[in-house]
Formats: sequence, structure tokens, C-alpha cells
Amino acid sequence: MTATRVLVLNSGSSSVKYQLLDMRDSNRLAVGLVERIGEENSRLKHTPLTDGGTSRERTEPIADHAAALQAVAEELAKDGLGLDSTELAAIGHRVVHGGQSFTEPTVVDDAVLAEIERLIPVAPLHNPANLTGIRTAQALRPDLPQVAVFDTAFHTTMPESAARYAIDVETADTHRIRRYGFHGTSHAYVSRATAELLGRAPEDVNVIVLHLGNGASASAVRGGKCVDTSMGLTPLEGLVMGTRSGDMDPAVIFHLMRVGGMSTDEIDTLLNKKSGLIGLCGDNDMREIRRRIDEGDERAKLAFDIYIHRLKKYIGAYCAVLGRVDAIAFTAGVGENAAPVREAAVAGLEQLGLAVDDELNAVRSDEPRLISPADARVAVAVVPTDEELEIATQTYALVHPAGKNI
Ligand code: ADP
Repeated sequence: MTATRVLVLNSGSSSVKYQLLDMRDSNRLAVGLVERIGEENSRLKHTPLTDGGTSRERTEPIADHAAALQAVAEELAKDGLGLDSTELAAIGHRVVHGGQSFTEPTVVDDAVLAEIERLIPVAPLHNPANLTGIRTAQALRPDLPQVAVFDTAFHTTMPESAARYAIDVETADTHRIRRYGFHGTSHAYVSRATAELLGRAPEDVNVIVLHLGNGASASAVRGGKCVDTSMGLTPLEGLVMGTRSGDMDPAVIFHLMRVGGMSTDEIDTLLNKKSGLIGLCGDNDMREIRRRIDEGDERAKLAFDIYIHRLKKYIGAYCAVLGRVDAIAFTAGVGENAAPVREAAVAGLEQLGLAVDDELNAVRSDEPRLISPADARVAVAVVPTDEELEIATQTYALVHPAGKNI
């Protein structure tokens, strides 16, 4: 019997999200989440999708990632999906920062672990947690291939002109400062799915992908390869996000230090956790912001306008970067659900060939779909992202190159 299951793990500092997929048909067998690891009130929510999909919850202290994965394994075993099964082909791990070293998904060995560790200074919040996840999974199934799928990999095709900041080259190189970009798994998946929606090969299509979740990033994809993206050395740069500022004059930081007397950590927290939509209006959920706007709330309206203004600037910039644009794809929580954001983002951009059809834009669906008028020069699409499926697909392709032909 061929092993066809892939477990996808997304390990954060105090959480683990997981999905078990059967790659014969990309079917999800179970999904779940362990949160508040290391606290008294840890919680595991597990949903088997094989029959009925009734969720089970466990609230008990879960001391560390090893205990978390053990608890996940127990829940999966109850559904006959145990991680000791010979049907498990590999474990795919989301790893946030692969620097310039990792341009593709990679089977983990000691050298790979050492390199992910070496990158900790550029991803201090994420890579340590990702490493813990890999090591824990290795301990559980030492015989299985563990595959690292990097958020940065899709962006490694960016030309130097887009990836380099205009700062002293030696300083930049010493500290590995450059634009890496994130959400790469999503940008890869969505740009390919957009080409598919248009019935064309990815190599023939230029797409602007707008990944608008709580974190948000834009990318310019030419013929299937990323040529620019809005996040930078860290996920802080670019669009206005739920809690991150995105672009601003870097001198704001010196000003806050010199004049505001703030510490580096305080400014880090301000810009990453207390800025963006939440900083502007106190809410980071677009549904709540739209509700407040409907009630005439001025602060919510201004936050929305600032969000849209930045989004438009990136659309315009990436039209210029690409020269010819075939499609713009909206994805992630806001992009897939918030019709007013999509409408406002392209409003007034007819000169660039962009427009949305109000009726199509109002349709709610989980399927990839076009929302531009039939005669539009540039297709505007809503393409639901699926990072877990992409990680599973890339993982499976690596350990089972024959892919789905089993
Ligand atoms: P992340 O993965 O970055 O945490 P998601 O892609 O899940 O985020 O997006 C979460 C965000 O999507 C929420 O904060 C909310 O602003 C937005 N969102 C979710 N559903 C809707 C909806 N129906 N209408 C508008 N915005 C929505």
C-alpha cells in the first residue's frame, strides 16, 4: 500500500495548527488547533472530517510542543487516523523564514535545521517555534520525511532591483537585510489558481495577488514567478494590516526613540501589534469596521480610507512593475469576503483597465470566481487561498514525485 497521507503542521510560539490530508484526492481527513501551549488553560480543538465532522475539545494544561503533538496524535488515533499509520507519507511544516538559502520545499536534515536556526536573527518570533515543531515531529516519527515549506521561498525569484533596499550594501549584507517577503505559499497557490481560472498556463499570465487577511501583502507575479512583494525583511512592511502599520517613514522610529522616549521593544509592539486598523480605529476586524461605517462612525471610515489608499498605491505600483497585467486576485479573510474593500480598491482605476461588476462582486462563494465585467481588459478575481493544501501538495510532490498518479 502506498502512503498517501500528509500531516501539515503550522507551529507558533504557543500554538500548533494542523491538518491531515489524503493526497489521492487532496481530501482533508482532520483539522485542528492547540492553543495556549505552556499555560494552565491550554486548549485542543480537533475536528475529524471523515464522518460528520463533530469537533472535540480538550482543555487541560499542555506543557510544551511535544505534549501538544502527543495530544494531537491521541485525537487522530481515536478516529483511526493515528500518526503511527503506515499511510502517513510525510509531515509538512510551515517555516516562516528561509532567507536566501531555501528557494524550494526541502526535506529536513541536520544541515537544514542548522540553516533555519541560523536565520533566527531575521525571524526571531517565528523560526524558533517552527524549529520546535519540526524537532517534536521528528521525535514522534523519526522514520518519516519531514518537509520544510518556506513562506519566503516563492519570493526568492525577485530581481535584486526589487529585493535590495537602497542602503549601504556592506551593512545590508552583513546583517542580511533585504526584502524577503512572506505569505509566499499563498501567493504561489493563488497566482496559479488565477491562471487556471482564466484557462491559461501560469507561464503566460501576469497577476497581482492581494492577500488581505489580518496580515496583508501584495505581490507582482510575472509568468508564475514573483517579481515584487510588499512585505520586506519582516512582515511589517507594505499594506495597512489588522494590527501592523505597513509602510511609513523609517524616521518615525528615531523620532519615537528620541522625542517619545520609547524603547526598541515598545516601538516594535506599537508598530506590529497596536497599529494598522486597530491603531487607527480600535478594531481590526473588517466586518466590525464596515458595521461602524454604516452607523456613521468617522474613525472607522478614516481607517477604511487609509487601508484602501495604501492598497490602491500598491495596485498602481505593481501595474507599473508588471507592465502588462492580466488579472488581480483578492484572497484571504478580507479579500475573499469583503466586497466593499474589493470595490473601493479598484474604484477609479478604469484607466488601468480595472473594474468590478457590482452583482458579481456581491456573490458569496468558496469557489474561485471572476468579478470583473465581461468586457474588462484586466480580470478581477476572488480566489480563496489554501495554504495548508499548498504545503501538503509541495510536501507530497517532494517525497512522492509521481504525485497523484498512484
Ligand atoms: P490571518 O490568517 O492573517 O489571521 P485571515 O485570512 O483568516 O487572517 O483573515 C482574518 C480577517 O478577515 C479578519 O480579521 C476580518 O477582518 C476578515 N474577515 C473575515 N470574514 C470577513 C467577512 N465576512 N467580511 C469582512 N471581513 C472578514
